[in-house]
Amino acid sequence: MKLNGQVALVTGASRGIGRAIAVALGQAGAYVVINYRGNQEAAESALEELHGAGGQGELCRFDVAIETAVDAAVKKIVDAQGKVDILVNNAGVTSDTLLIRSKAQDWDQVIGTNLRGTVLCTKSVCRAMIRQRYGRIVNLSSVVGQTGNVGQSIYAATKAGILGFTKSIARELASRGITVNAVAPGFIETEMTANLSPQLQEEFLRSIPLGRFGRSEEVAQLVVFLTGPGAAYITGQVMNVNGGLYM
Ligand code: NDP
Repeated sequence: MKLNGQVALVTGASRGIGRAIAVALGQAGAYVVINYRGNQEAAESALEELHGAGGQGELCRFDVAIETAVDAAVKKIVDAQGKVDILVNNAGVTSDTLLIRSKAQDWDQVIGTNLRGTVLCTKSVCRAMIRQRYGRIVNLSSVVGQTGNVGQSIYAATKAGILGFTKSIARELASRGITVNAVAPGFIETEMTANLSPQLQEEFLRSIPLGRFGRSEEVAQLVVFLTGPGAAYITGQVMNVNGGLYM
């Protein structure tokens, strides 16, 4: 139980990769705060799964793009638990379409959740981390933030933005005992990727050297490592978990 006694906040943890991360952190001994935006049923089932796996935690509903909501949630966690040791900025959305067909309101949604949300949660949580002179922050980027992808220009821009943000904040917070890293998954089987056309899924599959899509648990194991004692000397890095899709 290498994360015993630690408090973790995982954004967008009611489904998919975030949910697997929450369960894995709980299994490693952390107390896990499961954030979600609106899907109460999915969130309750995620908490049940965490408990079923022997972990402890609670639900915390807020939109990562709303500053006052983020600050209020983080204050509540710190008041109740006394600290936050681990932040996983996982909440993310897509709105895939060619740029010429895209609408500004859709960009705002994607940029708001993926980039603004990551920045707001980091800013709020790092205040507590700086006080305690310890913290582990992991930001979910994506392989398309490194390679680009047709129909995903705005999403890819947010995921590339997360890489620049990660490296800058890693430098700003290093002297305070806080590490900041990015995890860039390839094609992972979740509801997000289930929405891609069968043709696009087939194309991706052909370009993955390991010949299969990834599982959320495989991303979660990397996050557990990055938040644990074994990763104390790793900061400002981008860790790929993509079956060799990009190397
Ligand atoms: P899912 O669509 O399966 O789940 C998204 C989660 O984010 C849900 O829990 C959802 O909660 C939450 N969420 C969405 N918007 C907000 C918001 N504004 N505030 C708080 N929570 C929010 O996504 P995945 O598990 O597939 O992806 C997780 C992360 O991994 C994302 O950042 C994604 O970009 C990244 N990623 C995923 C890949 C993949 O192949 N799946 C590949 C590379 C990166 P609710 O249901 O309540 O709205």
